[in-house]
Amino acid sequence: MSPERSVYSPERVAASPFTALGIAPALVGAALHEGYVTPTPVQCETIPSVLAGRDVLGCAQTGTGKTAAYVLPMLQRLDERRLPGVLRALVLAPTRELAAQIAGRVTAYGRNLGLEHTVLYGGVSQRGQERDLSRKPEVVVATPGRLLDLMRQRLVDLRALEILVLDEADTMLDMGFIHDVRQIIAAIPKQRQTLLFSATMPAPIAALSRTILSDPVRVSVTPRTLAAETVEQAVYFVGRPNKRSLLTKVLTQGGIERALVFTRTKHGADRVAKQLVRAGVGAAAIHGNKSQNARERALEAFRRGTTHVLVATDIAARGLDVQGITHVINYDLPNVAESYVHRIGRTGRAGAVGQAISFCDHEERGLLTDIERLIRRRIPVASAVRGG
Ligand code: AMP
Repeated sequence: MSPERSVYSPERVAASPFTALGIAPALVGAALHEGYVTPTPVQCETIPSVLAGRDVLGCAQTGTGKTAAYVLPMLQRLDERRLPGVLRALVLAPTRELAAQIAGRVTAYGRNLGLEHTVLYGGVSQRGQERDLSRKPEVVVATPGRLLDLMRQRLVDLRALEILVLDEADTMLDMGFIHDVRQIIAAIPKQRQTLLFSATMPAPIAALSRTILSDPVRVSVTPRTLAAETVEQAVYFVGRPNKRSLLTKVLTQGGIERALVFTRTKHGADRVAKQLVRAGVGAAAIHGNKSQNARERALEAFRRGTTHVLVATDIAARGLDVQGITHVINYDLPNVAESYVHRIGRTGRAGAVGQAISFCDHEERGLLTDIERLIRRRIPVASAVRGG
Protein backbone atom coordinates (compact mmCIF):
# COMPACT_ATOMS: atom_id res chain seq x y z
CA MET A 1 0.00 0.00 0.00
CA SER A 2 1.36 3.38 -0.81
CA PRO A 3 1.26 5.98 1.94
CA GLU A 4 -0.86 9.05 1.78
CA ARG A 5 0.85 11.72 -0.30
CA SER A 6 1.90 14.89 1.40
CA VAL A 7 2.54 17.90 -0.71
CA TYR A 8 3.24 21.15 1.05
CA SER A 9 2.76 24.68 -0.18
CA PRO A 10 5.51 25.90 -2.51
CA GLU A 11 6.35 28.59 0.05
CA ARG A 12 6.92 26.11 2.87
CA VAL A 13 9.00 23.89 0.60
CA ALA A 14 11.06 26.80 -0.72
CA ALA A 15 11.78 28.04 2.80
CA SER A 16 12.93 24.64 4.07
CA PRO A 17 16.70 24.26 4.64
CA PHE A 18 16.38 20.86 2.94
CA THR A 19 15.65 22.74 -0.29
CA ALA A 20 18.86 24.71 0.19
CA LEU A 21 20.72 21.39 0.35
CA GLY A 22 19.36 20.53 -3.10
CA ILE A 23 16.49 18.24 -2.12
CA ALA A 24 13.57 18.27 -4.58
CA PRO A 25 10.08 19.44 -3.52
CA ALA A 26 8.47 15.97 -3.41
CA LEU A 27 11.10 14.81 -0.91
CA VAL A 28 11.14 18.07 1.05
CA GLY A 29 7.37 17.60 1.40
CA ALA A 30 7.99 14.13 2.88
CA ALA A 31 10.62 15.52 5.28
CA LEU A 32 8.18 18.23 6.38
CA HIS A 33 5.56 15.55 6.85
CA GLU A 34 7.98 13.80 9.23
CA GLY A 35 8.29 17.04 11.17
CA TYR A 36 11.91 17.63 10.15
CA VAL A 37 12.65 21.33 10.38
CA THR A 38 16.43 21.51 10.40
CA PRO A 39 18.73 19.01 8.71
CA THR A 40 21.09 17.33 11.16
CA PRO A 41 24.87 17.84 10.71
CA VAL A 42 25.35 14.50 8.97
CA GLN A 43 22.51 15.37 6.59
CA CYS A 44 24.03 18.79 5.79
CA GLU A 45 27.32 17.15 4.93
CA THR A 46 26.08 14.05 3.14
CA ILE A 47 23.11 15.17 1.03
CA PRO A 48 24.90 17.50 -1.42
CA SER A 49 27.67 14.93 -2.02
CA VAL A 50 25.24 12.11 -2.74
CA LEU A 51 23.24 14.34 -5.06
CA ALA A 52 26.47 15.17 -6.88
CA GLY A 53 27.03 11.46 -7.46
CA ARG A 54 30.00 11.13 -5.13
CA ASP A 55 30.88 8.10 -3.01
CA VAL A 56 30.62 8.77 0.71
CA LEU A 57 32.42 7.33 3.71
CA GLY A 58 30.38 8.31 6.73
CA CYS A 59 31.39 7.94 10.33
CA ALA A 60 28.11 8.38 12.11
CA GLN A 61 26.12 6.63 14.79
CA THR A 62 22.44 5.83 14.92
CA GLY A 63 20.48 8.78 16.20
CA THR A 64 22.39 11.29 14.10
CA GLY A 65 19.84 11.21 11.28
CA LYS A 66 22.12 9.23 8.99
CA THR A 67 19.31 7.23 7.39
CA ALA A 68 17.64 10.29 5.93
CA ALA A 69 21.11 11.57 5.00
CA TYR A 70 21.41 8.81 2.41
CA VAL A 71 17.80 7.79 1.71
CA LEU A 72 16.58 11.27 0.71
CA PRO A 73 19.26 11.94 -1.94
CA MET A 74 19.27 8.31 -3.08
CA LEU A 75 15.54 8.44 -3.83
CA GLN A 76 15.99 11.75 -5.55
CA ARG A 77 18.65 10.39 -7.87
CA LEU A 78 16.44 7.43 -8.73
CA ASP A 79 13.47 9.70 -9.30
CA GLU A 80 15.42 11.97 -11.65
CA ARG A 81 15.48 9.19 -14.22
CA ARG A 82 12.80 6.59 -13.67
CA LEU A 83 13.36 3.00 -14.81
CA PRO A 84 10.46 1.05 -13.31
CA GLY A 85 11.06 -2.68 -13.08
CA VAL A 86 14.85 -2.35 -12.71
CA LEU A 87 16.58 -2.97 -9.38
CA ARG A 88 18.75 0.14 -9.08
CA ALA A 89 19.50 0.69 -5.41
CA LEU A 90 20.47 -1.68 -2.62
CA VAL A 91 20.84 -0.90 1.07
CA LEU A 92 22.61 -3.56 3.14
CA ALA A 93 22.05 -3.61 6.89
CA PRO A 94 23.27 -6.07 9.52
CA THR A 95 20.03 -6.92 11.30
CA ARG A 96 16.48 -7.57 10.43
CA GLU A 97 15.32 -4.81 12.77
CA LEU A 98 17.58 -2.24 11.16
CA ALA A 99 16.62 -3.39 7.66
CA ALA A 100 12.92 -3.09 8.52
CA GLN A 101 13.51 0.33 10.04
CA ILE A 102 15.37 1.57 6.96
CA ALA A 103 12.64 0.19 4.69
CA GLY A 104 10.13 2.11 6.79
CA ARG A 105 12.14 5.27 6.16
CA VAL A 106 12.18 4.56 2.41
CA THR A 107 8.38 4.32 2.54
CA ALA A 108 8.13 7.55 4.51
CA TYR A 109 10.60 9.64 2.52
CA GLY A 110 9.40 8.20 -0.79
CA ARG A 111 5.73 8.80 -0.04
CA ASN A 112 5.34 11.23 -2.93
CA LEU A 113 7.34 9.27 -5.49
CA GLY A 114 5.61 5.91 -5.95
CA LEU A 115 8.90 3.99 -6.20
CA GLU A 116 8.51 0.24 -5.70
CA HIS A 117 10.72 -1.04 -2.89
CA THR A 118 10.99 -4.05 -0.62
CA VAL A 119 12.87 -5.47 2.33
CA LEU A 120 14.56 -8.90 2.49
CA TYR A 121 15.77 -10.56 5.68
CA GLY A 122 16.24 -14.03 7.07
CA GLY A 123 14.36 -15.80 9.83
CA VAL A 124 11.07 -15.71 7.95
CA SER A 125 9.71 -17.71 5.04
CA GLN A 126 11.01 -16.74 1.64
CA ARG A 127 7.61 -16.99 -0.02
CA GLY A 128 6.38 -13.47 0.73
CA GLN A 129 9.72 -12.01 -0.31
CA GLU A 130 9.55 -13.85 -3.64
CA ARG A 131 6.15 -12.30 -4.18
CA ASP A 132 7.53 -8.85 -3.35
CA LEU A 133 10.44 -9.39 -5.75
CA SER A 134 8.05 -10.32 -8.55
CA ARG A 135 6.77 -6.75 -8.33
CA LYS A 136 10.22 -5.68 -9.57
CA PRO A 137 11.30 -3.20 -6.93
CA GLU A 138 13.66 -0.37 -7.83
CA VAL A 139 14.99 -0.31 -4.26
CA VAL A 140 15.84 -3.26 -2.00
CA VAL A 141 16.84 -3.09 1.66
CA ALA A 142 18.37 -6.37 2.80
CA THR A 143 20.43 -8.27 5.30
CA PRO A 144 23.41 -9.97 3.62
CA GLY A 145 22.59 -13.65 4.31
CA ARG A 146 19.07 -13.69 2.89
CA LEU A 147 20.05 -11.55 -0.05
CA LEU A 148 22.84 -13.92 -0.96
CA ASP A 149 20.41 -16.87 -0.74
CA LEU A 150 18.00 -15.17 -3.09
CA MET A 151 20.81 -14.20 -5.46
CA ARG A 152 21.94 -17.83 -5.63
CA GLN A 153 18.41 -18.83 -6.59
CA ARG A 154 18.49 -16.16 -9.27
CA LEU A 155 15.58 -14.36 -7.69
CA VAL A 156 17.56 -11.14 -7.35
CA ASP A 157 19.60 -9.62 -10.10
CA LEU A 158 22.05 -6.87 -9.20
CA ARG A 159 23.50 -6.34 -12.66
CA ALA A 160 21.77 -3.01 -13.20
CA LEU A 161 22.48 -1.64 -9.73
CA GLU A 162 23.45 2.04 -9.62
CA ILE A 163 23.57 2.81 -5.90
CA LEU A 164 24.90 0.63 -3.08
CA VAL A 165 24.64 1.61 0.58
CA LEU A 166 26.27 -0.25 3.46
CA ASP A 167 24.78 0.81 6.77
CA GLU A 168 26.40 -0.05 10.11
CA ALA A 169 29.29 -1.69 8.34
CA ASP A 170 31.11 -2.26 11.63
CA THR A 171 28.17 -4.25 12.99
CA MET A 172 28.18 -6.35 9.81
CA LEU A 173 31.81 -7.10 10.53
CA ASP A 174 31.08 -7.98 14.17
CA MET A 175 28.31 -10.30 13.10
CA GLY A 176 30.56 -12.12 10.68
CA PHE A 177 28.89 -10.89 7.50
CA ILE A 178 31.90 -9.36 5.86
CA HIS A 179 32.49 -12.35 3.58
CA ASP A 180 28.83 -12.32 2.43
CA VAL A 181 29.08 -8.60 1.84
CA ARG A 182 32.14 -9.02 -0.33
CA GLN A 183 30.39 -11.70 -2.36
CA ILE A 184 27.36 -9.50 -2.89
CA ILE A 185 29.51 -6.59 -3.98
CA ALA A 186 31.27 -8.81 -6.51
CA ALA A 187 27.92 -9.21 -8.30
CA ILE A 188 27.37 -5.45 -8.59
CA PRO A 189 28.70 -3.35 -11.48
CA LYS A 190 31.86 -1.43 -10.62
CA GLN A 191 30.38 1.63 -12.23
CA ARG A 192 28.09 2.64 -9.37
CA GLN A 193 27.74 5.02 -6.47
CA THR A 194 28.70 3.57 -3.09
CA LEU A 195 27.92 4.95 0.36
CA LEU A 196 29.37 3.33 3.47
CA PHE A 197 28.31 4.24 6.99
CA SER A 198 29.92 2.95 10.14
CA ALA A 199 29.96 4.18 13.72
CA THR A 200 33.57 3.07 14.11
CA MET A 201 36.32 2.35 11.59
CA PRO A 202 38.08 -0.87 12.57
CA ALA A 203 40.89 -1.91 10.20
CA PRO A 204 38.85 -4.43 8.17
CA ILE A 205 36.17 -1.79 7.47
CA ALA A 206 38.80 0.77 6.51
CA ALA A 207 40.28 -1.83 4.15
CA LEU A 208 36.88 -2.68 2.69
CA SER A 209 36.13 0.98 2.16
CA ARG A 210 39.39 1.42 0.24
CA THR A 211 38.44 -1.35 -2.15
CA ILE A 212 34.79 -0.50 -2.71
CA LEU A 213 34.73 3.32 -2.59
CA SER A 214 36.14 5.54 -5.22
CA ASP A 215 37.52 8.93 -4.13
CA PRO A 216 34.94 9.19 -1.33
CA VAL A 217 33.82 12.32 0.44
CA ARG A 218 34.48 11.75 4.13
CA VAL A 219 31.76 12.75 6.52
CA SER A 220 32.15 12.50 10.22
CA VAL A 221 30.02 13.98 12.88
CA THR A 222 32.45 15.01 15.55
CA PRO A 223 30.64 15.84 18.72
CA ARG A 224 31.74 18.57 21.08
CA THR A 225 33.29 16.98 24.10
CA LEU A 226 33.67 19.69 26.70
CA ALA A 227 30.72 20.37 28.95
CA ALA A 228 29.89 24.03 29.24
CA GLU A 229 31.68 25.46 32.24
CA THR A 230 28.64 27.41 33.32
CA VAL A 231 26.46 24.34 33.82
CA GLU A 232 26.12 22.91 37.32
CA GLN A 233 25.77 19.18 37.04
CA ALA A 234 24.27 16.65 39.41
CA VAL A 235 23.13 13.05 39.29
CA TYR A 236 20.46 11.22 41.26
CA PHE A 237 20.76 7.48 41.65
CA VAL A 238 17.21 6.32 41.40
CA GLY A 239 15.36 3.08 40.69
CA ARG A 240 13.55 3.10 37.36
CA PRO A 241 10.07 2.90 38.96
CA ASN A 242 10.85 5.99 41.07
CA LYS A 243 11.98 8.23 38.22
CA ARG A 244 8.47 9.59 37.67
CA SER A 245 7.90 10.75 41.23
CA LEU A 246 11.44 12.13 41.43
CA LEU A 247 10.85 14.17 38.30
CA THR A 248 7.66 15.67 39.67
CA LYS A 249 9.45 16.53 42.91
CA VAL A 250 12.39 18.13 41.15
CA LEU A 251 10.14 20.17 38.91
CA THR A 252 7.85 21.40 41.65
CA GLN A 253 10.50 22.44 44.14
CA GLY A 254 10.74 25.96 42.76
CA GLY A 255 13.38 27.88 40.85
CA ILE A 256 12.63 26.12 37.61
CA GLU A 257 11.61 28.58 34.96
CA ARG A 258 12.22 26.64 31.84
CA ALA A 259 13.19 22.99 31.85
CA LEU A 260 14.04 20.69 29.00
CA VAL A 261 13.54 17.03 29.92
CA PHE A 262 15.21 14.37 27.78
CA THR A 263 13.87 10.87 27.29
CA ARG A 264 15.34 8.14 25.14
CA THR A 265 12.21 7.41 23.10
CA LYS A 266 9.34 9.32 21.56
CA HIS A 267 6.94 7.12 23.44
CA GLY A 268 8.74 7.91 26.70
CA ALA A 269 8.52 11.63 25.95
CA ASP A 270 4.75 11.39 25.57
CA ARG A 271 4.37 9.34 28.73
CA VAL A 272 6.47 11.69 30.83
CA ALA A 273 4.67 14.79 29.53
CA LYS A 274 1.24 13.28 30.24
CA GLN A 275 2.26 12.25 33.72
CA LEU A 276 3.56 15.76 34.48
CA VAL A 277 0.35 17.34 33.26
CA ARG A 278 -1.59 15.00 35.53
CA ALA A 279 0.62 16.13 38.40
CA GLY A 280 -0.23 19.75 37.61
CA VAL A 281 3.03 20.72 35.88
CA GLY A 282 2.61 22.57 32.58
CA ALA A 283 4.45 20.29 30.16
CA ALA A 284 4.42 19.29 26.51
CA ALA A 285 6.28 16.71 24.44
CA ILE A 286 7.87 17.41 21.09
CA HIS A 287 9.13 14.78 18.70
CA GLY A 288 9.09 13.74 15.10
CA ASN A 289 5.77 11.91 15.34
CA LYS A 290 3.93 15.14 16.05
CA SER A 291 2.57 17.24 13.27
CA GLN A 292 4.48 20.37 12.42
CA ASN A 293 1.66 22.48 13.85
CA ALA A 294 1.63 20.60 17.13
CA ARG A 295 5.41 21.04 17.43
CA GLU A 296 5.21 24.74 16.71
CA ARG A 297 2.39 25.27 19.20
CA ALA A 298 4.31 23.42 21.92
CA LEU A 299 7.47 25.41 21.21
CA GLU A 300 5.68 28.73 21.19
CA ALA A 301 4.04 27.99 24.56
CA PHE A 302 7.46 27.07 25.94
CA ARG A 303 9.05 30.24 24.59
CA ARG A 304 6.28 32.40 26.03
CA GLY A 305 6.58 30.60 29.34
CA THR A 306 3.03 29.24 29.49
CA THR A 307 4.54 25.77 29.42
CA HIS A 308 7.49 25.44 31.77
CA VAL A 309 8.61 22.02 30.75
CA LEU A 310 9.34 20.59 27.36
CA VAL A 311 9.96 16.86 27.04
CA ALA A 312 12.02 15.81 24.04
CA THR A 313 14.20 13.16 22.48
CA ASP A 314 17.72 14.08 21.33
CA ILE A 315 16.68 14.36 17.73
CA ALA A 316 13.60 16.43 18.45
CA ALA A 317 15.66 18.88 20.46
CA ARG A 318 18.09 19.42 17.62
CA GLY A 319 17.88 22.86 16.09
CA LEU A 320 15.68 23.95 18.97
CA ASP A 321 16.42 27.55 19.66
CA VAL A 322 15.00 28.57 22.99
CA GLN A 323 16.72 31.08 25.23
CA GLY A 324 16.71 31.00 28.99
CA ILE A 325 16.51 27.27 29.64
CA THR A 326 17.32 27.08 33.35
CA HIS A 327 17.38 23.29 33.70
CA VAL A 328 18.17 20.31 31.56
CA ILE A 329 16.94 17.07 33.05
CA ASN A 330 18.14 13.73 31.75
CA TYR A 331 15.20 11.52 32.64
CA ASP A 332 17.01 8.79 30.73
CA LEU A 333 20.75 8.93 30.22
CA PRO A 334 21.69 9.01 26.54
CA ASN A 335 23.11 5.87 24.96
CA VAL A 336 25.87 7.89 23.40
CA ALA A 337 27.98 9.89 25.83
CA GLU A 338 28.42 12.80 23.41
CA SER A 339 24.68 13.42 23.47
CA TYR A 340 25.02 14.32 27.15
CA VAL A 341 27.26 17.21 26.23
CA HIS A 342 24.83 18.36 23.52
CA ARG A 343 21.93 18.12 25.93
CA ILE A 344 23.43 20.07 28.79
CA GLY A 345 24.75 22.67 26.35
CA ARG A 346 21.12 23.78 26.01
CA THR A 347 21.28 25.53 29.35
CA GLY A 348 23.79 27.95 30.81
CA ARG A 349 24.11 29.90 27.62
CA ALA A 350 25.32 33.47 27.38
CA GLY A 351 26.88 33.50 30.83
CA ALA A 352 23.75 32.45 32.72
CA VAL A 353 24.20 29.58 35.12
CA GLY A 354 22.22 26.53 34.14
CA GLN A 355 21.66 23.25 35.89
CA ALA A 356 21.84 19.78 34.46
CA ILE A 357 20.23 17.04 36.52
CA SER A 358 20.56 13.41 35.51
CA PHE A 359 18.58 10.40 36.68
CA CYS A 360 20.60 7.24 36.69
CA ASP A 361 19.06 3.85 37.38
CA HIS A 362 20.93 0.66 37.99
CA GLU A 363 21.11 -0.28 34.31
CA GLU A 364 22.43 3.13 33.33
CA ARG A 365 25.52 3.02 35.56
CA GLY A 366 27.69 2.07 32.59
CA LEU A 367 26.36 5.00 30.57
CA LEU A 368 27.19 7.35 33.43
CA THR A 369 30.74 6.01 33.51
CA ASP A 370 31.04 6.66 29.76
CA ILE A 371 29.84 10.23 30.23
CA GLU A 372 32.21 10.90 33.12
CA ARG A 373 35.09 9.53 31.11
CA LEU A 374 34.18 11.77 28.18
CA ILE A 375 33.83 14.98 30.20
CA ARG A 376 36.80 13.97 32.36
CA ARG A 377 35.12 14.65 35.66
CA ARG A 378 32.84 13.07 38.21
CA ILE A 379 29.30 14.37 38.32
CA PRO A 380 28.40 15.15 41.93
CA VAL A 381 25.64 13.04 43.46
CA ALA A 382 22.61 15.14 44.39
CA SER A 383 21.29 15.20 47.92
CA ALA A 384 17.67 14.19 48.59
CA VAL A 385 14.90 16.34 47.21
CA ARG A 386 12.86 18.26 49.74
CA GLY A 387 9.84 16.25 50.82
CA GLY A 388 11.31 13.14 49.23
P1 AMP B 1 18.85 7.75 12.36
O1 AMP B 1 20.12 8.26 12.95
O2 AMP B 1 18.84 7.77 10.91
O3 AMP B 1 18.47 6.41 12.95
O4 AMP B 1 17.69 8.78 12.79
C1 AMP B 1 17.28 8.90 14.13
C2 AMP B 1 15.92 9.60 14.24
O5 AMP B 1 16.01 10.94 13.83
C3 AMP B 1 14.80 9.01 13.41
O6 AMP B 1 13.70 8.82 14.27
C4 AMP B 1 14.49 10.05 12.36
O7 AMP B 1 13.11 10.07 12.07
C5 AMP B 1 14.90 11.33 13.05
N1 AMP B 1 15.38 12.41 12.14
C6 AMP B 1 16.19 12.27 11.09
N2 AMP B 1 16.47 13.46 10.54
C7 AMP B 1 15.82 14.39 11.27
C8 AMP B 1 15.72 15.82 11.19
N3 AMP B 1 16.35 16.53 10.27
N4 AMP B 1 14.97 16.44 12.11
C9 AMP B 1 14.33 15.74 13.08
N5 AMP B 1 14.38 14.39 13.21
C10 AMP B 1 15.12 13.72 12.31
